[in-house]
Formats: sequence, C-alpha cells, structure tokens
Amino acid sequence: MIRVEKISKTFFVPQEVKALDNVSCEIKKGEVVVIIGPSGSGKSTFLRCLNRLEYADSGHIYIDGIDILDSKTDINKVRAEVGMVFQSFNLFPHKTVLENITLAQQIVRKRSRQEAVEKARYLLDKVGIPDKAGVYPDQLSGGQQQRVAIARALAMDPKVMLFDEPTSALDPEMIGEVLDVMKTLAREGMTMVVVTHEMGFAREVADRVIFMDHGRIVEEGTPEHFFTNPTHERTRLFLSQIL
Ligand code: ADP
Ligand code: MG
Repeated sequence: MIRVEKISKTFFVPQEVKALDNVSCEIKKGEVVVIIGPSGSGKSTFLRCLNRLEYADSGHIYIDGIDILDSKTDINKVRAEVGMVFQSFNLFPHKTVLENITLAQQIVRKRSRQEAVEKARYLLDKVGIPDKAGVYPDQLSGGQQQRVAIARALAMDPKVMLFDEPTSALDPEMIGEVLDVMKTLAREGMTMVVVTHEMGFAREVADRVIFMDHGRIVEEGTPEHFFTNPTHERTRLFLSQIL
C-alpha cells in the first residue's frame, strides 16, 4: 500500500537539520505500523511526507502504486486516499461537528449533501458520539474532538490512515476512548501508520514497530521483538526511558 524509497528531507530554517535521512520502508495493505522515537527524530516529518504536507527532497513515495512526488500526480486525489489525524485535532472551529465531517465529502468526493450527512451520522455513531452532530468543537472534550477528527478523516474512505500522536494532547482519562476507536479500525483491516508514545497500544495492536532516531529508521520488528529483545543500544536506551 505504501512504498517509501530512500527519502530525505532537510530543513534550513531556523537551522540546518536533516529531518529524514535516506528512509525506506514498505507498508502492506491492512498492516498497522507504530513509529516510536525521541522528540525531533523525524516521525512527524515522515508522516507528513506520506501525504505531501512536506515534499521530500529526494527518493520516491508510492501510495497504492501512485508516485506522489511526481509533479503530474494530482495531490488532492492522493490526500483523499490518505487520512491524517493530528495531535491538535485541527477541526474547523466555526463549523458544527456535522459540517466538519460533511464538507470535504461534498467538495472532494462530490457527494450529495444527503449522502454526506448519512455517512457522517454513521461515523459519529461508530466513534461513539452519535448525539454530537449539532454542536461546535469547543463544546466537546478533547477526546470527543479527536474522535470527530477521526470520523472526518474516515468520511473520505481513505486507503490509509496516518495518526501523529493522536492522544498526546489529551487528559489521561480520555486517551482510552480514542485508542479504542483506533483499535476497532485496526481490527477492521485499515492500513494505519501511528506515531505514538502509547506502548500498550503498540504491543497490542501493531503488526510492526519502527524506531526512528536522527531522521533514520534504526530498528524495526514485531512488538515482541521490540519490547523483549531490541537489537540496538539506542532502542534499548529509549525504551528504558519511557517504559
Ligand atoms: P518528531 O515528530 O520525531 O518529534 P519532527 O519530524 O517534527 O520530529 O522533526 C524532525 C527535525 O526536523 C527536528 O529537528 C525539527 O526541529 C525539524 N523540523 C521539523 N519540521 C520543521 C519545519 N517545518 N521547519 C524547520 N525545521 C523543522
Ligand atoms: Mg512529531
């Protein structure tokens, strides 16, 4: 579903940083990959490159066979296939929950208002807040807002879902409700790439864990490998700091 070949990305402002340094990986359809690593290791940049929120300097990225770095590729089409959920929810504050979930369906997927509303209601039910269609984001808890953000991404029928620390901005009692929605998606076969510090989720749900440091993939393997017998000293050190 995703093939990344030797991508690099350097930022020059405020200082020169090689955020991604020759990263390659493949993610299969239905696979759940969890990316962990210290702050600044390139996790967000990697995710953002997958839907071209950042443009990799070199290398290739194929999403379901489409070369997304090709200038001829319609990036809006690609983005419709690659849902993204951010740490900071990013809902439209002046639109209701229902509008948040129906807008892009109508504009990008060209659905009728009625179709979009039906889909939105189905998804609100799925993420456990069927009664919140008419309210504004600031009337919701963080956990509820994040579930709306997930529903909004799912409304596009994406082939892949990217999550960038989706629970990091939440109060502890709300983390579980968001992780539960993600677990359900994983069980249903969604292809997911998840940056998270929730090691319980990684252990339970990930098919594969990738550890990044200094813009590189240092180590990858099954959760069992990762949590019981990591090969690299840097991985062990990181795990000892967070577990
Ligand atoms: P992580 O998500 O693992 O914390 P990031 O991908 O956000 O790491 O960042 C990797 C490196 O790239 C960091 O040194 C960060 O400061 C830098 N960086 C990320 N985005 C930008 C940007 N838009 N402009 C400049 N530097 C950036
Ligand atoms: Mg990040």
